[in-house]
Amino acid sequence: MKTGHQKSVLNRLRNSPIATLKLALPNPRRSLRGKISFFVCAVTLLTALLVTFISTQSVRGFLYAQVEHELPALLQRTAEKVDLLYQQRLHEVGVFAGAHTLVDGVARFNADPTDTNLGEITQFLSYVYENSPQFESLLVLSANGEQITGVGKTLNLGHAARQRLSAINKASLDNLFVLGHGNVQIVSVPILSFGNQGQDTLHAVINLGSLQEHLQNWELSAEGAMYLVDAEKRYIATNRKSSISGNFRGIYRHAIPQSASTPVLHEYKNSIGQDVVGSAIYIERINGALIVEEPNRSVFAPVQGILWRTLSINLAIVFIVSLVAYRITRSISRPISALSQGVNRLSAGERSVAIPEPASNDEIGMLTQAFNSMTNQLDANTRELERLSVTDGLTQLYNYRYFQECLSREVDSSAESNHCLALILCDIDHFKQWNDRYGHAAGDKILCQIAVTLKANSRDNDLVARYGGDEFVVLAPRTDLAGALILAEKFRSAVAAASVLGADDNQVQSLTISTGVSIFSGSREALFEEADRALYSAKHSGRDCVRAAGVLG
Ligand code: GH3
Ligand code: MG
Repeated sequence: MKTGHQKSVLNRLRNSPIATLKLALPNPRRSLRGKISFFVCAVTLLTALLVTFISTQSVRGFLYAQVEHELPALLQRTAEKVDLLYQQRLHEVGVFAGAHTLVDGVARFNADPTDTNLGEITQFLSYVYENSPQFESLLVLSANGEQITGVGKTLNLGHAARQRLSAINKASLDNLFVLGHGNVQIVSVPILSFGNQGQDTLHAVINLGSLQEHLQNWELSAEGAMYLVDAEKRYIATNRKSSISGNFRGIYRHAIPQSASTPVLHEYKNSIGQDVVGSAIYIERINGALIVEEPNRSVFAPVQGILWRTLSINLAIVFIVSLVAYRITRSISRPISALSQGVNRLSAGERSVAIPEPASNDEIGMLTQAFNSMTNQLDANTRELERLSVTDGLTQLYNYRYFQECLSREVDSSAESNHCLALILCDIDHFKQWNDRYGHAAGDKILCQIAVTLKANSRDNDLVARYGGDEFVVLAPRTDLAGALILAEKFRSAVAAASVLGADDNQVQSLTISTGVSIFSGSREALFEEADRALYSAKHSGRDCVRAAGVLG
């Protein structure tokens, strides 16, 4: 048993907008409309998603092929530029190291290490330093690695590093030195010496910041990055404003090439979780590599736009196609369900079932028209059968069976309402003789003629029926004995007045009827017996007369 509250909750759920929508939408498992709409929607949706997927994949493939060609080419060009730059730095330091002033000054200092001679070298270095922003500092080391003099940023090179630097015998570019304040790259050149005191060397620290502008490139996107790294994958320079210091290993997820080869493009997630495409090229002069990285969202930016555009167009197509399919199936399923309802109504016994015909003249329209004309025909046939079942085939008056039905109704109604009910029995006089004389067919004609006469002289509420043979019966509701006698007399005189033509001798003959009248007094059987007795009395009184039960004739 549900409580009142539960019922009201159930009612609210039943009337909720979702429940209404569920009712309005066809059930895809049960209805034809639902099945077709669901199928069309699913197929178009799948096609739309497939088309979207294929078109975005082709655009992506096209963009990838483009970037696969462009990024390595860019790397190659930039690597050449960077190499040229290092070559220039080497050449510049070589020129400084060969400068007469420096060579002489170092020779003098080696021969006589006075402040004056040292000052001369330092002055030369200062001049060079001021005119060479590409270098952060310059220093001269003795053959045993001691610093003779230096200008620019102070370097805290350890003993081992200085030993290594001073041991060079030709112009060279050293790998990175990781010092306290950052990474340093040094170009070293031997200073020409004329004595036997050993060889001194000139070293210039490259301004790595000046490399940055060479790595910047308009061909890269705003988020595109270029990194220059040494053989140990340590960061030298980048085009990014916010430079990365220390170890670079986390960024590029692939091995740095160890020899000159054509760069290969890779797709990977970099150390900050960004999806990127990247490539690296080996630069022999620094025994390092140049790396380029572009975020996927920059490279494949058009894919996103195409994806949304294609998807929205395709979804709009799905929506329109589904809507059209829904409307078409509705235009089919509605008449079909109207037809099935019509058939149900017919089988439930309903008559005159007509269903609204669709405006279109297609197969469904034709089926509906056929159904309506079939039900019309069925209705007409049923009416005709009904009419025949209550009609006397010869005279077209009501038959005996129908008369009995009506009598039962009228008897009940009269008993209930206390209204008078009269019964008039009419029988043709000497009809057998007519039959014998003129034949059965002529007798039939006369039966029809008398039926017409009786009908013509009866009132609207009177029921005139053929009782059987040459006997007719008239049931007159709300009619008392006086009224019934008048009516019976009317019948009698009308029949007597009507002339009938003899079939063989063409003589005008007249025919009469005898009539017995009775009034309902509570018993149906008595009503009949009395009318029958009255008729009998009329026959015995010479025929062609009216007699009523209980009335002397
Ligand atoms: P009465 O005056 O005593 O009524 O004499 P009657 O000759 O009419 O005698 P009755 O009513 O008993 O006879 C009825 C006759 O009606 C008998 C039959 O030949 C004739 N009859 C009955 N049905 C039909 C019919 O359908 N067609 C024709 N032509 N004759 C019929
Ligand atoms: Mg008779």
